[in-house]
Amino acid sequence: MPNTQSGATFALRDFSPYKEKKNEEYMNPNQKEHFKALLLAWKKELMEEVDRTVSHMKDEAANFPDPADRASQEEEFSLELRTRDRERKLIKKIDKTLELLETEDYGYCEACGVEIGIRRLEARPTATLCVDCKTLDEIKERQTTA
Ligand SMILES: [Zn+2]
Repeated sequence: MPNTQSGATFALRDFSPYKEKKNEEYMNPNQKEHFKALLLAWKKELMEEVDRTVSHMKDEAANFPDPADRASQEEEFSLELRTRDRERKLIKKIDKTLELLETEDYGYCEACGVEIGIRRLEARPTATLCVDCKTLDEIKERQTTA
């Protein structure tokens, strides 16, 4: 089974947090470089994960003559397909974030313009909202889906 990564939360194996210097400017070239490296490493892991899922499915395909086994296998496959789909979407999002990183907008909240913050971005490098706006967004989402 592929290890299911939880949404857009960052789960890189080798990760060292950014060490800020005193009075360092937010989103200076060093910080941008740091996040670029993070995003690229994350993308690489996701792509490896997608590859693993595909080869795992190829290995297991058509090995079960029993219909009951096939049913559970199909269930497992559809789960893996969903995982793969989510990983693909995440890879797209990472690509978009890498583009954003080339502009002046990366690291600032899309809604209110405040600094999202290095620690939050390290936990979620693709975040485009600050904690407050994100929370508000989630509340609104709950209200509209309820
Ligand atoms: Zn905001």
